[in-house]
Parts: sequence; C-alpha cells; structure tokens
Amino acid sequence: MAAPWEDVLRNKPAIQEAASVAVDAALLHGVLMRTEGEPNASDVVNYAPFTLLPSAVPSALFEQAYAVQQDFNLLVDAISQNKEFLEHTLASTIKVDDFTAQLFRIHMQVLEEGLAQSVFLGINRSDYMFDCGVDGTPALKQIEINTIAASFGGLTSRTAAVHGQVLKVLGKSKEASRLLPNNPSKGLALGIAKAWELYGSPSAVVMFLVEEVQRNIFDQRCVENELWNRNIRVIRKRFRDVFEKGSVDDARRLYMDGQEVAVVYYREGYVPKNYNQQNWEARLLLERSRAVKCPDIATQLAGTKKVQQELSRPGTLERLLPGHAEAVTRIRATFAGLYSLDVGEEGDKIAATAIADPDRFVLKPQREGGGNNLYGEELRQVLEKIRDSPERTSYILMDKIKPQPAMNYLLRAHSPLQVSECVSELGIFGVYVRQGKEMVMNEAAGHLLRTKAIEHADGGVAAGVAVLDTPYLV
Ligand code: ADP
Ligand code: MG
Repeated sequence: MAAPWEDVLRNKPAIQEAASVAVDAALLHGVLMRTEGEPNASDVVNYAPFTLLPSAVPSALFEQAYAVQQDFNLLVDAISQNKEFLEHTLASTIKVDDFTAQLFRIHMQVLEEGLAQSVFLGINRSDYMFDCGVDGTPALKQIEINTIAASFGGLTSRTAAVHGQVLKVLGKSKEASRLLPNNPSKGLALGIAKAWELYGSPSAVVMFLVEEVQRNIFDQRCVENELWNRNIRVIRKRFRDVFEKGSVDDARRLYMDGQEVAVVYYREGYVPKNYNQQNWEARLLLERSRAVKCPDIATQLAGTKKVQQELSRPGTLERLLPGHAEAVTRIRATFAGLYSLDVGEEGDKIAATAIADPDRFVLKPQREGGGNNLYGEELRQVLEKIRDSPERTSYILMDKIKPQPAMNYLLRAHSPLQVSECVSELGIFGVYVRQGKEMVMNEAAGHLLRTKAIEHADGGVAAGVAVLDTPYLV
C-alpha cells in the first residue's frame, strides 16, 4: 500500500523546497496552534505539526471505517441509556479508579433525581489502525472510541489543501486532485445546531466548556465559526466560570451570567487533572440541568476503556443492539482482542500470558489524552507488580496492533527536516442527535488521519507525538 511518491522521498532539494511551501501553506490555510510558551494568547502562533506528504490508506478499509460509524453512534447512544450495563460493567473499575468512580457517582445522582435533559447530542471519534496480518493484508482494527472532547475536526479540514499544494510542487498534480475534501467541523456544528434548535429557545446560547490552557483554540474556533455563520451565539467558559456564575432555575434551565444555555459542548473534563472540588461541583450542576450536554456523563462513561473491553465479550453487542444484526457484525469486525483483568481465573490467565509475552499486548488504564498506556518491558514490570492486587482491575489488556510502517517527514516548528518511519491512525467523526427516544440525526461527519514515528508507542497530536495528515487512498 505504498504511496506513489517513494521516488521523491530521498530527493533532498525537492523535499526542502516542498517543506517550506508546506509550512507557509499551513499557516495560510489555518492549520494553527498556539505556542507552548504562550498557550493562552494568539499574538504568537505557529503551525500545528503535520506530515509533509499524505499517507497511503487502503480505500477498502477507509470505506469500512465510514460504513461502521453510524453503527457506533447507535451503540454509544444505547450504552448511555443502559443503566444496568454501565453499572455492571464499571462495578469492578470504580472500586479502584477514583476518577471513573466520581463520574459514575454523578451519573447515578443525576438518574436518581430524574433526567431534565430530553435532547441528546453525541459527537465521537472512532480511531483505527491498519493491522498487518501474517500474509501482509491490512485489517481495520479499532483503537478506541472517544466520546468526549474528540478534537482536530477543525484543523484536519485544512490539511488536504496543504497536501494538495505540496504534491503539485513535487510534480504530482494528478495525485493532488485525488485528495478527498473533508470538513468534520461543519458536521459537528450541524449536530450542535440541531440540538440547539430542538432545545427550542432561540435566545439561548451554545457554551464551549474549555480548558484553562487553550493551545488548540483554532481547532475549536472552526466549529464555533460554523455556528456563528448560522446565527447561533457561542460563549467560551471554563469550569471555574460555571462554578462562580452558573445557576439552574426551578425548571432546571441552565444560566451563565443570566444567559440561558441550550448546549454545553465539552472540550474539557476528560482527565483527572481537569478537576478540583469546585470543578466537580460545576460538572454536577451542568449534568443536573436540562441543557443538552455533549456528551452527557453517561455517554462519557460509555467511552471508557473498560466498556470497550466488555463490548468484545460474545453476546454483549447483541444484547445492546437487539434487532441490529448487521450493525453488530460490522462493529465486531473492527474489534481487536480485548481482555478483562478483573479478579478471578480469566484475569489471572491473561495476566500470566501478557507477562510471558508482553510485546503481544498493550496495557491500558481508564485514561484519555495519550501517553498513559504501557508496552513491552514496562507493561511486564507493572503487571507483575499488580497481578495479585485488585489494582489490576483499573486496567484492561488489548492485543497490540502492528501496522506496516511507511516513510514520511514530520513537520514541527523548530525541528530538523528528517525522514521517519511512520504509522498512521484513522479517526472517523460521528454525530447524532436524539430527542426522547427518537434518533433525529445519525451521521459520519468526516475523518482525521494522524501519523507518528514508530519509536513512539503512544500519544496523540496534543501530546506532541502524532501529527496531522491527509489520507491518500490506494
Ligand atoms: P488515549 O485515550 O490516551 O488516546 P488510546 O487507546 O487511543 O488512548 O491509545 C493511545 C495511543 O496508543 C494510540 O493513539 C495508539 O498510537 C497507541 N495504541 C493504543 N492501543 C494500541 C494497540 N492496541 N496497538 C497498538 N498501538 C496502540
Ligand atoms: Mg486515543
């Protein structure tokens, strides 16, 4: 599945010229990030890291990933409404993982009080790698599904234009014309706009809940601008602001500074460091309100690694999606081997297998955002230490996906231009809106390709490991 530019990869002058065109094109097209030194000001910005060249993606697997996205939307939504499934699945995890436990407590508290929210908006991103089988045939395998703060839908809509220009500079106009248009931020905004409309209060605003440190603001602005273009007001607030100025009235309408909020779009709140006591209180206030949370806390829990692992058990998908046999088949085809480390014989056995052969597996805690998983020798050491402790149930084990590497250049500010052996991860954005029991929107909204050098086992773009890319279908 090689891309048709192997011939230019080692042509240093051509690559250097293309790289300088690429960087300026990225700046012109808005592939931007704030700098590490000034993460909360836009006076100085730089380009978000990206590959010099698009990466080859097998078209059949690309189509497969798109074709299963609506199924995943249905699945996530079904899990979020299934109190018993979440309770049962997360029972062992919440005994040892404080963060998941706290989310779960809010989930239960909100259910006990009775849900005020009647319109539901899901924005997720299902991520895959192309596992290279023994015969060399690549297969689409899901890495995870992100049900909260799935990012880069904005910046990724701008990389195709950059890569198109690079290919032209390198004399590959025909290939440039084959790059697919892609605009997830528009799809995300259409979902938010639909939820806003169904909420039914034309003067209410959409609130982006954002982090204290906002390096990736331009990615969010892409979605914001799509909403402003539809005459929907957007405000940006942090948990701290909600704690200080948020309130819920008797009808459980949410207000910020006296302004009614129709939709809360979280780009924050997915890792423990996002929370202190006040932020947890703010989160509870938001969840109790009738505003459309994207996601509500149940949908966030549906995206945990523990849930992902339980989904792979025989019969689970069938129970969650009765009457959707074909969707179940499509979903299951993307699953890699996933294993529970719950206390008991099953967990003992797989822990022993992984200790004996750590390179076959990835050890994953219930964390998001990259850089948390364990591999190889480190996996073995940690698992050996916790194998007889209940602590092991805060992790899951997963088969390691082994994609075929390809050569590319990763462009990063202040970094030398050098060729790297790389692997890619394809994400598909899903958007859905449910009103009461009725799905009123269920879409695949675009894609994201991220590429990293093979020496990094883990980590995304925000974590400084992967870079933005554009798929070139082969
Ligand atoms: P996070 O929630 O931190 O993003 P992921 O499950 O997506 O967690 O893992 C982070 C990164 O680790 C992925 O982007 C991928 O590069 C790598 N990774 C995760 N699972 C696997 C796997 N099963 N095989 C190979 N690499 C993996
Ligand atoms: Mg991930």
